[in-house]
Amino acid sequence: MPPAPSSILAWEDDPGAPGSRRHPDAQPRPTLAAAPLPVSIDAKAPPAREFKVGSPEFRYWVAAEALARGAQFWGTILPKGTRWHSTNGARLPVELDEDVDLNAYYDRHGLHFFHDTVKGVTVYSGESPDVVCHELGHAVLDGLRPQLWDALSAEVAAFHESFGDMSAMLSGLQLQSLREEVLAETASRLDRSSRLSRLAEQLGWAVRQGHPDAVDRDCLRNASNSFFYTDPLKLPPTAPAATLSSEPHSFSRVFTGAFLNILAGMFRLQKKRDQAALLDTSRDAATILVTAIKTTPVVPTYFSQIATHMISADAATFRGRYRDALKGGFVKHGVLSLQAATSPPSPAPGAEDAPLARIALPAAHLGLPQELFVTAASHPKRFAVTGAAPDVGGTESPGHDDAAAAFLEDLVRRGEVDFNGHAVAETAVLAPKRRKTHEVVREADELVLVRRCIDCGVTLAP
Ligand SMILES: [Zn+2]
Repeated sequence: MPPAPSSILAWEDDPGAPGSRRHPDAQPRPTLAAAPLPVSIDAKAPPAREFKVGSPEFRYWVAAEALARGAQFWGTILPKGTRWHSTNGARLPVELDEDVDLNAYYDRHGLHFFHDTVKGVTVYSGESPDVVCHELGHAVLDGLRPQLWDALSAEVAAFHESFGDMSAMLSGLQLQSLREEVLAETASRLDRSSRLSRLAEQLGWAVRQGHPDAVDRDCLRNASNSFFYTDPLKLPPTAPAATLSSEPHSFSRVFTGAFLNILAGMFRLQKKRDQAALLDTSRDAATILVTAIKTTPVVPTYFSQIATHMISADAATFRGRYRDALKGGFVKHGVLSLQAATSPPSPAPGAEDAPLARIALPAAHLGLPQELFVTAASHPKRFAVTGAAPDVGGTESPGHDDAAAAFLEDLVRRGEVDFNGHAVAETAVLAPKRRKTHEVVREADELVLVRRCIDCGVTLAP
């Protein structure tokens, strides 16, 4: 008789806030080296056994299972030949526990996870499959559409965060046990708040203890929400979690909210509404999303461009089967104005791969001695669509230079820019924030803003 396959224990989506009665499930030993998206954890793999909750060996297998599940899922959806961004290497490096922080980030040299102790509970961001598959989503999207990395636009940055949350939801739905639980919890109405919609309950709890208004009441971010699109240029750079700001995690909730509505609408269209149909729905939604991302030009009004390209992708791939679900979700959250959603469907376009423009922005008000060069979301807009205005009709589309200037000012006001000594100390606002997403570097005679990482934490203290 062949030996029994070695099994490990893993959380499905999250350990849950303290007091949660969740228990880990047995899973087969995950394979991290599988093509086309292999992953490499920085620690030696313990033997494949069912370790005790709370042990480092248990946490290793939880992270490994989530990484393997997410990478395998996206590997079957992405266009052939999609690889990690080259600076990650052939295998995506993962540091499971880098330092003390309530955080996780992706920086083109892999994924980084942390731990911190709050009210006697030590929370490891790498122990939450929600957080792991969110971070993995950043790396997947960077491999698929590297132009998004540097494009200085609030909507582009917010879409990266939304893709992380969509990656967490879609990767979770690859587990039959979670599909069954979510269908039971929502009475098959997937847009209700559930294990699926609530992202990172445990990390959300930990952040809430120190910063009660920084996260949702029951998790880090909830995709079951009623946020309505607002031009991010008209939003403040930060806000309590209950309202919308132009900060990427906050603003991402508009698109993620629409996506959950769309998933729910797509599932309602299945002949038999069971867990197998939910698996098919998750794969179809991911296919529509990825097809759209590949072809959507990088523009300041990125949400509405992606939305229109998703409707085109559905027409081309599924003969418009999901059109009403897509329109319904996008209109409900204002991602598309009613006019944009009711215009006749356009043919599926080819990819827009022109390099983005580098533009000079005035920077004296930031304390810099000369203008600052930035990468703008400068692709020509393909579809003349916009998000909804709060009263009637659509919003105005800002130019890529105005969108870049506004996002730059947001970044400085949130303390996200490391001036690297190039700013005039007497006039610049030099925020003490520990991990900054952007930095100013000198290239020949020019000062240039480059992205350092996509930081997913909500730690507000330095
Ligand atoms: Zn993120």
